[in-house]
Amino acid sequence: MVILLLIWLVQWIYHYINEYLDKDVNQQRTQLLQELAQGGPTLEQRSWGAVLWTALRKWLFWVVAGTLMLLLAHRWLRKSICEEENSRDSENEESEEENRAEMNMIYIFSRRFHLSVPKLASGRRAVQELLSDLLQVSHSLFSDSFFPVLEPAIGVGSACEGWSPQKEDVVYCMFVPLKPPHGYAFHLEPDIMREMPQMRMRVRVELVCTCTREQPNQKILCFLHNSAEELKRNQVASLLHTLCTGPYLDGEKIALWFQTFVISAWSVLPQSHYYSMKVLPSCRSCKMKLMKASGRSFFVEVVFSVQQGDSDIFLSSQPTEAPFPPSTTWLESYAVAEAKFFRHVSMQAPPHSCHLKCLRLCARLLEGSGLSIYALKTTVMHLLTLIPPSEWQHKYLLMRVDDTMHYLRCCLEEKCLKHFFFGNEDMPEEISLPPAFQEAQPLNLFQHLADDPAAQTEALKKFDKLQYYLYFGF
Ligand SMILES: [Zn+2]
Repeated sequence: MVILLLIWLVQWIYHYINEYLDKDVNQQRTQLLQELAQGGPTLEQRSWGAVLWTALRKWLFWVVAGTLMLLLAHRWLRKSICEEENSRDSENEESEEENRAEMNMIYIFSRRFHLSVPKLASGRRAVQELLSDLLQVSHSLFSDSFFPVLEPAIGVGSACEGWSPQKEDVVYCMFVPLKPPHGYAFHLEPDIMREMPQMRMRVRVELVCTCTREQPNQKILCFLHNSAEELKRNQVASLLHTLCTGPYLDGEKIALWFQTFVISAWSVLPQSHYYSMKVLPSCRSCKMKLMKASGRSFFVEVVFSVQQGDSDIFLSSQPTEAPFPPSTTWLESYAVAEAKFFRHVSMQAPPHSCHLKCLRLCARLLEGSGLSIYALKTTVMHLLTLIPPSEWQHKYLLMRVDDTMHYLRCCLEEKCLKHFFFGNEDMPEEISLPPAFQEAQPLNLFQHLADDPAAQTEALKKFDKLQYYLYFGF
């Protein structure tokens, strides 16, 4: 098109120059005749000038045509360079386009699965404050008695770790470690009815001689060496007679004691001005429902625990699943170590890391799959030690979801998912585990699938159905 236009332009210019010069020649001719009549230069001289003019005419045309051709060539050259640059740019644009598509997918997933994490951080702070105020009241109330000493609460579980799969009615789980009061010691004994994967223990309460101990309050007698009558007259009841069954700490009795305390202490707490509180029935923990005037509610579950040595492994009063063992049985819990691991990951992670969103999204996707949330959490914890923090940027969310699903599928196929805290060489140093954990054989969370091939086939079938929904359901 451009070439046709140029050819037409060249022809037009040629025609114009010709016409202009012809007009000029006619004028010259008239002038020549006039000059001849007046006796001017000779005809030879004049015809030489005409030849020169004709040459000039042609020359002028070629200059214009040449310039146009040069312009055309220049234009064509520029165009081809631009095209090359464009093709390079378009490659970049394509990858930008892909990123944009990926971000759009993440947006769709976030909307569809309500991934925007509710205000877990502010809820966590409010719960931490509530527990701290409650424990302060308990210390002043029980300082002269022999109830277990309540240590600062530790937030554990999905809400405190920041990935709660619940949309509303979030449950904040708080571990309250128990320490022996004056004159007592706790001894952890393996339960005879020990079962895997959760180690069962009992907490034996022993009396310690306090005769030689410097006591700020001289009224406190030694349970071992003062006479029973003297003790009965002057001292409050022993822990062994209040919250124990036999010589063992009783989870049920502790729960009931704490629930009664919460109900009686509530009115003195500043939180009573902002929330209405209800203690819900729970036999091994203290469940509270807190409701704001706006109607927004959340739950707090206080679980009693005993620390194993100075490690991050605790014994918990609350069994995670039925059937409940005897109330003097305490179950080994990794909840504190897990919460610490997630805090450690958050400190290493890039801003807007997607690991919590990934966990939340996968928890939603696996709803109804029969796979436990704990298996999923274990998978993501393994991946967090395998995949570097920079690869958990928000833009990689879908890739990490894919990794998680792929890892879980492989584990189902292999009938083996290793427990995170046993024999794990990739454990961050910050997590303090009892020495036996490092040397232990890895514990298989999918042992039940290894023992039952039909259950494994069923689990795989369900999982594949879910994956189909994930990839083709949109
Ligand atoms: Zn004594």
